[in-house]
Amino acid sequence: EAAAKAAAVNADTGAPTIFDKIIAKEIPSAIVYEDDKVLAFKDINPQAPVHVLVIPKFRDGLTELGKAEPRHEEILGQLLYAARIVAEKEGIVDGFRVVINSGASACQSVYHFHLHVIGGRQMKWPPG
Ligand code: ADP
Repeated sequence: EAAAKAAAVNADTGAPTIFDKIIAKEIPSAIVYEDDKVLAFKDINPQAPVHVLVIPKFRDGLTELGKAEPRHEEILGQLLYAARIVAEKEGIVDGFRVVINSGASACQSVYHFHLHVIGGRQMKWPPG
């Protein structure tokens, strides 16, 4: 957890991230859903039986939710709807969680905006 936090503190540079390579298919991922603007793929370190990341194919400055601007409204809506499509495809649409970690204090580690779609087990509240 300390390492994750350190990575998060150091990561917010706007530099390319590992997600660029996933979008370019230079490194493999298990794709769950894809359209012209959105890519959804399985998290490499799943926190539940279903754990899928939903990302914009074009970051366009959207490193984290806290830095969103008015031009991002449309893609933010598309990403949230894609989360619902992912939940349906993964068989958890009756109950699932969507998480956005924004910034270092939320332990964001990859500065390319993403939603986590998590489910397949009973979730707890509050989150850590
Ligand atoms: P955290 O790392 O604290 O969960 P984020 O909200 O930034 O913070 O989430 C980044 C997510 O990206 C992590 O859940 C991590 O497991 C995932 N991840 C990192 N590299 C890959 C990869 N190559 N393929 C799939 N998921 C990845």
